[in-house]
Amino acid sequence: AAVIVAIDGPSGTGKSSTSRAVATQLGLSYLDTGAQYRAITWWMLNNGIDVQDAMEVATAAAKPVIVSGTDPTGPTITVDGEDASGPIRTQEVTSKVSAVSAVPEVRTRITELQRTIAESAEKGIVVEGRDIGTTVLPDADIKIFLTASPEARAARRSGEVKGSDLAATKEALIKRDAADSGRKTSPLAKADDAVEVDTTELTLQQVIECVVTLVGE
Ligand code: C5P
Repeated sequence: AAVIVAIDGPSGTGKSSTSRAVATQLGLSYLDTGAQYRAITWWMLNNGIDVQDAMEVATAAAKPVIVSGTDPTGPTITVDGEDASGPIRTQEVTSKVSAVSAVPEVRTRITELQRTIAESAEKGIVVEGRDIGTTVLPDADIKIFLTASPEARAARRSGEVKGSDLAATKEALIKRDAADSGRKTSPLAKADDAVEVDTTELTLQQVIECVVTLVGE
């Protein structure tokens, strides 16, 4: 039977690197749900939607066609047929995505996409996000919740974004996590049956091994 792995946690915990490596090692598909929220945010910004206006965002939520490619060695994402993988990583999108992802109509729309993709993965899938174990796939076979100290997370993020300032990165990251944890609809949260892994003192390789072991049990 297809195995479903849910990996949740805040940013900078190594979620994406871990999820991709685990999926690759185990021959599973991979879905980055943050990329989908980033993609819908990018579309809103391109189409003159005021992302602070929840009504406007809700009304537009069904419009963009978002397609995710689930090969863990080369995941892709398009919006209305256009490659969005580069533009969804800009500061502008990163700073606006929490406002868009807090709108219930956006979550309903994206959650539906996620369930359809997970159901169609023949061998199984690793799905990474914030609410996968709690809301999107509550029946997942394995649930992992990754954490790390704010310092470790900011240092990792800062290393990924060229020219970024550590203090500013840490502040932006804490602000985004607070927004994601504080929203009313399916906030960032650990499922009761998730295994929590604190990655602060671990190398990426150690985290990958730990998750692969948990999946194999
Ligand atoms: O994982 P990433 O940092 O790319 O996620 C971007 C944003 O997408 C998060 O800050 C959050 O607002 C939103 N998100 C979400 N639910 C998920 C995944 C991401 O709300 N399952």
